[in-house]
Amino acid sequence: MNFKDITIKELHEKLINKEITPQELYKHSLSVIEDKNPSLNVFLETFPDNTKDIDVSTGVLSGIPMAMKDNILIKGRKVSGASKMLENYTASYDSKIAEILGREHAAIMGRVNMDEFAMGSSTESSYYGRTKNPLDESRVPGGSSGGSAAAVAAGMVPYALGSDTGGSIRQPAAYCGIVGLKPTYGTVSRSGLFAMASSLDVIGPMTNSVEDAEIVFNTINEYDELDNTSVTLKDRVEQSKEKNTNKKIIGVPRSFIDIDSLNAEVKENFNASLEKMKEQGYTIVDVELPHLQYALAVYYILQPAEVSSNMARYDGIRYGLSEKGNNLTDNYKKTKTSGFGKEVQRRIMLGTYVLSSGYHDEYYYKAQALRSKITQEIREVFETIDILATPTTPNVAFKFGEKQDPISLYLEDIFTVPYNLTGNPAISIPSGMNSDSMPFGMHFVAPMFCENKLFEVGKDFERAII
Ligand code: GLN
Repeated sequence: MNFKDITIKELHEKLINKEITPQELYKHSLSVIEDKNPSLNVFLETFPDNTKDIDVSTGVLSGIPMAMKDNILIKGRKVSGASKMLENYTASYDSKIAEILGREHAAIMGRVNMDEFAMGSSTESSYYGRTKNPLDESRVPGGSSGGSAAAVAAGMVPYALGSDTGGSIRQPAAYCGIVGLKPTYGTVSRSGLFAMASSLDVIGPMTNSVEDAEIVFNTINEYDELDNTSVTLKDRVEQSKEKNTNKKIIGVPRSFIDIDSLNAEVKENFNASLEKMKEQGYTIVDVELPHLQYALAVYYILQPAEVSSNMARYDGIRYGLSEKGNNLTDNYKKTKTSGFGKEVQRRIMLGTYVLSSGYHDEYYYKAQALRSKITQEIREVFETIDILATPTTPNVAFKFGEKQDPISLYLEDIFTVPYNLTGNPAISIPSGMNSDSMPFGMHFVAPMFCENKLFEVGKDFERAII
């Protein structure tokens, strides 16, 4: 069996018909992990087989192996955010996601690698070493959910969960040739997810197909009173009512996409993909979104600001690493210097700066105003189109060591970050390969709470590019 060639629905049917058992699936998954992990470094830990009590009729995910990003809490299990700071930390409660997966009798195979505290785009900032791209081991798998993407791309599991604050599900999905969905902010609970930039963080599925992403999303999206930004089902329906139309108009923000760093092959693939959508009966129109060009700058003000606040909890006193100095301030300094890697320290400093007195008007409030402007622009564009399309990333997966300068790494997020700022759902779908056999990603964005639209268009897209 190869998890790359079978859908979740088919696996579920095989389990129900007793053609296969959860134990056999667990063993298969573990054997692929044991075979490939030594070179790929995807799993930080695998969990022992606990499939004996699984009732496969509980739900469509029952008995099906999955991988959990190392920033989502499972009670009694280690969870580190791929940081030295939490190397020996054990979760004292279940995240909402773990609670749902437990209730659904899902088979959690273990926790997978990521950029430290989900800051990064290549999984190179993990304290536990880099993860390699299963399609070409000299290349990065993307990040921060690089372990989740690689686990699916390597056929270790049929699906994984990742988190997306600026592109961390969609960008690694594009780099590894799989599907990655960032749900609408407020549809999937953040309770028990490490808080990074709380107004942007979302958990979502990484899968082999759009249908699989839909199945996983439909299982994990629940209202949760423990997440104060969770939206009730009634409000979701209310807000999506007029937007879930059957029209087929794709908007393309041409002037936003045409940047210098856009790779020529990516551009060519994107245009060819749009042509194929035309053959499926879609109309392609150009749209103007003049403020989108500021989204990356806005993100790199607001995200570090929220990070600097959220990271304050790792003070060496309550939990995690604790280094002793000569006094309290010295304890803090020693703990944070030794516990946090370079990228996390950089974000904390940036965030502290943009929030400091004398600068927060200049940076933080200005960025907030632009966030509102960009959000308004996106809300308005969906009055005239049904779906927005861009490439997922300006380039395909790059080689290790190729992007040393943080700014060049940040630029890989240029097409994904706007929709974390606005909250809209977005999906990355494989759209063919370049001359080095590295995959491209097609990026679709839908109106708020219109994941259905993404699934419908996404399935049409999969058919179109075959
Ligand atoms: N690459 C982006 C960053 O470094 C996004 C990370 C994410 O989505 N978690 O902030």
